[in-house]
Amino acid sequence: MRPFEYVQAEDVATAVAESAGGSGNGSGSFGGTVKYVAGGTNIIDLMKEDVMRPVKLVDINALPLATIQETASGGMLLGALARNADTAYHPVVRTRFPLLTAAILAGASPQLRNMATNGGNLLQRTRCFYFYDVVAPCNKREPGTGCSAIGGLTRQHAILGASEQCIATHPSDMCVALAALGAGVHVTSDAGSRVIPLIDFHRLPGDRPDLDTNLAADELITHLELPAAAAAFAGHSAYLKFRDRASYSFALVSAAAALDLHDDGSIQQARIAIGGVAHKPWRSAEAEGLLIGGQPTTANFSRAADALLEGAVGQGDNDFKVGMAHRAVVRAMTVATAGTVTNTGEIPPGGPAEPGDDAVPNGRN
Ligand code: SF4
Repeated sequence: MRPFEYVQAEDVATAVAESAGGSGNGSGSFGGTVKYVAGGTNIIDLMKEDVMRPVKLVDINALPLATIQETASGGMLLGALARNADTAYHPVVRTRFPLLTAAILAGASPQLRNMATNGGNLLQRTRCFYFYDVVAPCNKREPGTGCSAIGGLTRQHAILGASEQCIATHPSDMCVALAALGAGVHVTSDAGSRVIPLIDFHRLPGDRPDLDTNLAADELITHLELPAAAAAFAGHSAYLKFRDRASYSFALVSAAAALDLHDDGSIQQARIAIGGVAHKPWRSAEAEGLLIGGQPTTANFSRAADALLEGAVGQGDNDFKVGMAHRAVVRAMTVATAGTVTNTGEIPPGGPAEPGDDAVPNGRN
């Protein structure tokens, strides 16, 4: 690991001031010069592997951003420094936003979820193997060097929204559920504060694949907001994840489905987001609109999946993802129609298990 400066910020203003010169989005060769660190579950690995080379780390763990609280309007504010596990098991999140609980518990491992923060989950970097291989050309790590994945091994890579510069995917499960629920990302800087819709927080690679998000260089994530309206999906949601191992593996394809049904069973509102397929969680208002007013049938779900996946194209090794994503959408919608499977968080008789397995019994591959 290369030498770096380490400072501990005691408040938000100090953290933002310390990051002057480029933290937030970490653009440029090897990810920019100044980085925030909290749980450290991704950036420390990247520094050890020499993939990211910040000259300064600003430790933000002392900032008062770890609370999880209900808002006056009935939504929730999830502190950027709240741990993923604390968020997943929060009683109000589990009850009113169980899709988020299921998605978080489908990711990583219990140990990582205990350390990883909500803000860090959004800012984790791609797991493209070539991004981690510092001798391989990679436009995300070193702009202008090329993309080793194009024409290389592409099992994990994008089928939607890719560019000639980069075909990487975003690895988060949590963000897929946040996208489906219409979450917002509260950020702040010297210039003021703003809320970025989660669906607009991450970028497509275009000709700047080194930029993962639309955060300005000096912006700090303070909270995630779940809107009260998203609680309408509490009774009919599902997160399905298809991956190479049953746990502790990133999604080949995942699907977050949420339905709000009328008393007669027809669809009042529908949300569907998919992960593992693009540089960001993938949603389509057109696809969701096709479901409104109709019955929750396989045929209708299939039509919505067709619309969501319009333009999807494989890179060779990952051609299977197009069909897998279609099936994942239909299946997630079908599971959601039957009713949310609520995670209990309890260790079952016979010994400990991966908690996420309880939440997504149909998500194993
Ligand atoms: Fe780098 Fe993106 Fe290409 Fe992977 S897909 S090698 S991250 S430019």
